[in-house]
Order: sequence, then structure tokens, then C-alpha cells
Amino acid sequence: MNEAKYIWMDGEFVEWKDAKVHILTHTLHYGNGIFEGTKAYRTHDGRCAIFRLDEHTKRLYNSAKMLLLDIPFSIEEMKKAQVELLQKNELFNGAYIRPLVYLGYGVMGIYHKKCPVNASIAAWEWGAYLGEEGMKNGVRVKISSFNKPSNNSTMGKAKASANYLNSQMAKFEAVEAGYDEALLKDTDGYIAEASGECLFIIRDGVVITPPNDNSLESITQSTVIELAKDLGYEVVRKRVTREEIYIADEAFFTGTAAEVTPIRDVDSRIIGCGSRGPITEKLQSAYFDVVQGKNEKYTKYLTYIN
Ligand code: PMP
Repeated sequence: MNEAKYIWMDGEFVEWKDAKVHILTHTLHYGNGIFEGTKAYRTHDGRCAIFRLDEHTKRLYNSAKMLLLDIPFSIEEMKKAQVELLQKNELFNGAYIRPLVYLGYGVMGIYHKKCPVNASIAAWEWGAYLGEEGMKNGVRVKISSFNKPSNNSTMGKAKASANYLNSQMAKFEAVEAGYDEALLKDTDGYIAEASGECLFIIRDGVVITPPNDNSLESITQSTVIELAKDLGYEVVRKRVTREEIYIADEAFFTGTAAEVTPIRDVDSRIIGCGSRGPITEKLQSAYFDVVQGKNEKYTKYLTYIN
């Protein structure tokens, strides 16, 4: 991992190696924490900007509300801390930013009302989440034996640490079986999302992506929907079954870390040309233009840090 100099913890910048918590930290035991994954990019003019900082920070507070965590900082303070952290770490070539809100030390037992809530932000340089090769030629995907838990059991719209136990089991199963990523169905058998991405498929020139019925309200997904419409494609949000993916012309993942990653095959069915499809390539390139500040229409999504 590319260590940076400082991590922000509860309002202070502490040295990376000193950013520690007590072993009786509540979240370590019972799993109630929430986080964000935000990215900053070097822009075409040589500066650096955080992509959609407002939306990511808003989602952090939404997750906190769902999970009954009272963040002891304002949204504005958390946004400012993310900007300052990148500046202090001189991460001007881009970085992945990981705000985390967790229940701290002082209370044991499941009832957490009196437990202190802590906040931290780390940032470091992180390359293509599913690999450079995957960005060009596509990744191999397995439909998981794990389902997304039903909306009666967990809250898929929260970016909750606890939700990632399910993702982690699915990812491990897929990677150990020789795939790159896992796709999880909801309890009705429709595709919900991947372990850390959303799914898009292309059929007959139409861009299709599932609604967030049982999944995170993805910020990259919403950006790519806007870009697809700008490029003149029809965009349909509908539930997708596994066989619709098998016979799609193209498929790709979206996510802050995964950006726009093409899918090469799913459960050993080759998708389209078996590599990055032409519409995927256009959307991928449009996405990179946006995050690098090359598309005027979307500079509204950039928070420059220098
Ligand atoms: N679903 C899950 C489970 C994720 O972890 C992510 C990554 N944050 C996404 C979808 C994509 O969300 P976003 O585009 O906001 O990063």
C-alpha cells in the first residue's frame, strides 16, 4: 500500500504510523461503521481535483443516519478535512480517499447509544482497482452463490462496513475460482450489484443498468447514465437477470475505484467481442474526460485542491 504522511483522525492530522485505535473499539466487535470511497484526479491542466466530493460526503451522512451514527463534525468540516488531507499529503497526482465513521472505545454490548462516534479520513495513491489489463481488455465475472441480503435484513443503500462481509465472501469465492469479480443477485434472483461496483449491459445499442432497489446509490453509475444520455444513447433502468447478461453485446462495471471496467466473460459465457466493446470504450473515455476536467459541462463535479 502506498503510505501517505498523515491521516485525519477526529479533527487532527496524525502521522500514518500513529493512526491507531484501541482493541475494544466497538466497531471492531459488532461491525457498525460506515465509510466512503472518493477519488481525486490529476486534471488536464496539471492541477488536482476531488470528483463529486459533495455527493460522496452527503452519502456518508445518509449512511450515518441510516445506521444511527451521529457524526460529531458537520458536512462542511468533513469536506474541508478531505481537501486539507490531500494538500498536507501533497497528493496532487490523484488519490483514493477513505472517510470512515466508527463506534469507538468506552462501551461494550450491542446497544450503542452511549458509545462515542469517531471519524477518520485516509488517502493514498491507488491504481486501477480491477487492474490495468482489466480496464483495456475486460474482467472475468462469476455470479455469486451469495445473495445480497433482502431489504428486510440489511440496508443496501448504506455504505456500511457490515454490508461488506457479504461482498467479501462473494469476492473471495470468485477470485479463488479464477474470476476477477463477483456479481450478486437479490433475493428475487435479479442482479443487484457486484462486490464493489454496479453493472451495466448494452443490448442493441441500449444502455441498461439495474435500479438501486437493493444496492448502493452509486455515484459513478449516475455519472455514466448522464454521459450515455449526452452521447445520445437510450438508457433504461430495469431489473436484469443472469441470462440477459450472458447474451448482452457488451457489459461493464462502474464504481469510484473500478471507474468504468469492461467485462469480458460471465460464468464462462464470452460477452460480445470478448474484450472492451465500442460503447463501453466511448463511455470509459467520456468518464476519464470528466474526472480529468476536460469536459466543461461537468467541471461542476470537481473540487480543485490546488
Ligand atoms: N456497490 C458497492 C457495493 C460498492 O462498494 C460500490 C463502490 N462504492 C458501488 C456499488 C459503486 O458506487 P460508487 O459509484 O458510488 O463508487
